[in-house]
Amino acid sequence: MRALILRRPGEAVVAAVEEPRLHGAFLNDPHNDDEKILLKVRMVGLCGSDLNSFRGKNPMVSFPRIPGHEIAATIVEGSTRHPALAAGVNVTVSPYTNCAQCPSCLRNRPNACQFNQTLGVQRDGALTEYLLMPTEKLYPAKLNLQELCWVEPLTVGAHAVCRGRVTAQDTVAVFGCGGVGLGAIAASHFRGARTIAIDIDANKLAIARMAGAAHTIDTQSESLHEKLIELTGGRGPDVIVEAVGQPETFRGAVEEVAFTGRVVYIGYAKEPVAYETRLFVQKELDILGSRNALPGDFHEVIRMLESHAFPVQAAISGIASLEEVPDLLRAWSDNPGRYTKIMVRMD
Ligand SMILES: [Zn+2]
Ligand SMILES: [Zn+2]
Repeated sequence: MRALILRRPGEAVVAAVEEPRLHGAFLNDPHNDDEKILLKVRMVGLCGSDLNSFRGKNPMVSFPRIPGHEIAATIVEGSTRHPALAAGVNVTVSPYTNCAQCPSCLRNRPNACQFNQTLGVQRDGALTEYLLMPTEKLYPAKLNLQELCWVEPLTVGAHAVCRGRVTAQDTVAVFGCGGVGLGAIAASHFRGARTIAIDIDANKLAIARMAGAAHTIDTQSESLHEKLIELTGGRGPDVIVEAVGQPETFRGAVEEVAFTGRVVYIGYAKEPVAYETRLFVQKELDILGSRNALPGDFHEVIRMLESHAFPVQAAISGIASLEEVPDLLRAWSDNPGRYTKIMVRMD
């Protein structure tokens, strides 16, 4: 079968790899608790982290590697134990694998597993024709292929909203309207919170509005502090989700959030950040990290997409075939602002 292989940083090729069905020993084996079933991959979404992998900028990626962690697939051979996972059913896939033994896993928070392995990062991903996956990683849903590919990227922001304990009584500000921030905006709106989207890119802010932001702040032309004060009657937002990863936005979240508010960090800062820690104490803040997503986040995002609350089409910047991906990755790498989300047709 064909697969997209990252041979080394900057080099992507379409090549033949062995089909997983050749290892049929554990297909539907009643004595194996870890039942795996065969999927035909139908569509794969590519995001900024795949671009990072291609460019060799993700230290967790080893080469050669097949990328792809945003997956729409059809079940080829149904499960013997799970009637909902029948042949022909469309599913999306949780790309995370956890160790079951570390402190996070023992606390039932496998999303933050110390030894997490993600498809397309530490193990081969979905840019290939067939995939063998444990049944527990599969989420059937009444969604089309593009919507199925949106589930995983939106769960990362939805998990941040869950960490921030967002309710309909809250005003939530989201710093950054890339894929992760957009997921947080959509999930916050879906929970009924008044949601403020903040970015420096007018196009991203327009999509954020379609995803449910009641207000937007373009910090290229507007004062973040003055606008937030104006929109919250002088209090500041109850919850701030930081999805940028810059020192200014890390600090800004603590400075702008209301007294006794919650700050959720999901962006990765590339350098150390200096803080006025007095604000942590004075405001008695809850400062939370957020990583990957839990099964509950997958279910919440599926409900959100099934209710058509997310602008799936508007947020896609291109659709390509597998053969077009090597050229596309080079073009994207030369001009990272050009795309945010690319869908790869595998049929
Ligand atoms: Zn992604
Ligand atoms: Zn673990």
